[in-house]
Amino acid sequence: MSETIFSKIIAREIPADIIFEDDECLAFRDINPQAPTHFLVIPKKPIPKLSDATSEDQTLLGHLLLVASQVAADEGLTDFRLNVNNGAGASQTVFHLHVHVLGGRSFSWPPG
Ligand code: 5GP
Repeated sequence: MSETIFSKIIAREIPADIIFEDDECLAFRDINPQAPTHFLVIPKKPIPKLSDATSEDQTLLGHLLLVASQVAADEGLTDFRLNVNNGAGASQTVFHLHVHVLGGRSFSWPPG
């Protein structure tokens, strides 16, 4: 997999506002927030997109969701939205799997 802006954030080659880190993943604030709180949870493993994950990644994928929920709670959010864009046609722009976590405003359904 080619290097992405997120692999550079993991390697500390470019700065980011990192709010959580463990051996498996990183959470940092989105540079272009779409809500008062908007952060991304990414695996350190360079999986380009969700559909590239395999059964080997089952525990890791569950971990990303639990970290998203825990960091949302740490941010004071009770209601929040998770979003995973999979592929360019779904508005994915950075090809390193990431879970968007948005909160601090109301959200409509269905999404745009
Ligand atoms: P995607 O469209 O791929 O689902 O989301 C990529 C997200 O990464 C976008 O919300 C964008 O604002 C964010 N992003 C892109 N480059 C950077 C960066 O250098 N730093 C941070 N913190 N976020 C970034």
